[in-house]
Amino acid sequence: MISFELSDEQRLLEQSVREWGSREIAPHIRDADRQHRFDRERVLGGMAALGLLGISVPQEYGGAGMDYICLGLASEELEYVDTSLRVIMSVHAGLNCLSLLSWGTEDQKQRYLVPQAQGRKIAGYGLTEPGAGSDARAIQTTAAKNGDRYVLNGEKSWISLADVADSFIVIAWTDAEKKKQRDPGGLSAFIVERTFKGFSSGPMKEKWGILAGNTGWFKMDGVEVPEENLIGRAGEGFKIAMFALDQGRFTVAAGATGLIRACRDASVKYARERHAFGVEIGQHQLVKEMIAQMESDYQSARLLWLRSGWMKNNGQRNTRETGLAKWFATVASERAAGDAVQIHGANGYSDEYPVGRFYRNCKGAVIYEGTREIHKLMQADYLLGYRTDRPTRCELPAYKQEVKSQH
Ligand SMILES: Cc1cc2nc3c(=O)[nH]c(=O)nc-3n(C[C@H](O)[C@H](O)[C@H](O)COP(=O)(O)OP(=O)(O)OC[C@H]3O[C@@H](n4cnc5c(N)ncnc54)[C@H](O)[C@@H]3O)c2cc1C
Repeated sequence: MISFELSDEQRLLEQSVREWGSREIAPHIRDADRQHRFDRERVLGGMAALGLLGISVPQEYGGAGMDYICLGLASEELEYVDTSLRVIMSVHAGLNCLSLLSWGTEDQKQRYLVPQAQGRKIAGYGLTEPGAGSDARAIQTTAAKNGDRYVLNGEKSWISLADVADSFIVIAWTDAEKKKQRDPGGLSAFIVERTFKGFSSGPMKEKWGILAGNTGWFKMDGVEVPEENLIGRAGEGFKIAMFALDQGRFTVAAGATGLIRACRDASVKYARERHAFGVEIGQHQLVKEMIAQMESDYQSARLLWLRSGWMKNNGQRNTRETGLAKWFATVASERAAGDAVQIHGANGYSDEYPVGRFYRNCKGAVIYEGTREIHKLMQADYLLGYRTDRPTRCELPAYKQEVKSQH
């Protein structure tokens, strides 16, 4: 049975995130972006109050117990205002919390997931390194076992919330021989806290997009991590890293969909206001073409992420569908942002209008959580039979409706 209706809970959530974004964030976002300022209290405080930081985490672990469609709706609404907000959903709520929910021990859930879902702690995800992005097996970070601890050495770069998050899921080699052979069975995943001795972080100084967000690097210089912080089993790090991306990509897809809508709405408004050759520019066919494309892209992108959210709700594997949704939405958002600037003419080339910010912000999502090229290859490989998804030991729990307690 297919239903295109949102439930009351989903509609209410969508509405409250939309209202909060336009009331609390939109009036300040241009300045925050121009000043490269992450408004920690305003943004994280507001998101926590709305229950967004643990949106799809069951209530027993401190979350709001909402379904995965709500996670997507929140991501779409947040990126409608600014990409920096949605990035928090991707790394904290998506990559990190949902991985701990699925792969974490009960002790890890109590110590990390509960405060994260309640919004008392913020969490990130560290896979990328200066010499390794798409090629995750090329990472150099190592975790050597020493008694009841692992000693981590290495550097992660281009990490969202690097200077903000309290802890990170970190992927590192625990098997030196497998590292030499590039065998992903030698990778493991850890929870690393910022307060652990030997941990340091800093910002990516020359970044030119998502400027109201925090992106940086962190280094681990002999960081001792207790073995209780190993996620899953030793050797499952690659699987956990890829599992996490299934959740993060979903939020990226939904977020990019929101960015297309923001471009569409700004373009429609401007096309009705601006005149050229004696008519509103919306009367020119070539402007109509760009606006029509935005609508087509928006509606298609939304259907794709909704389908993958529906699959998550039903406990179905969705790596392929989520990858397609992410690839389509991010590429379409780049097209929409480029055309939105075009429709705004020279005004689009200034920060007086938001479309320039959309244009700078959209590009990141065509790069992170699988570049456009990697997603293209994945989709082709599924079709050609070169790639299939085998079940993993831990899966994302299907959505279970809960009686909601008052936030
Ligand atoms: C704003 C931002 C936030 C980020 N946040 C995080 C984060 O929180 N955590 C994290 O771990 N990482 C994060 N990243 C890093 C991101 O995941 C990587 O940038 C991404 O995986 C691509 O890796 P790379 O930049 O090293 O590019 P590379 O892998 O070096 O790729 C360079 C180019 O080569 C192409 N290419 C590579 N391999 C192939 C191939 N086999 N076939 C065809 N083309 C190929 C790529 O598509 C790309 O066009 C973030 C990045 C950005 C920009």
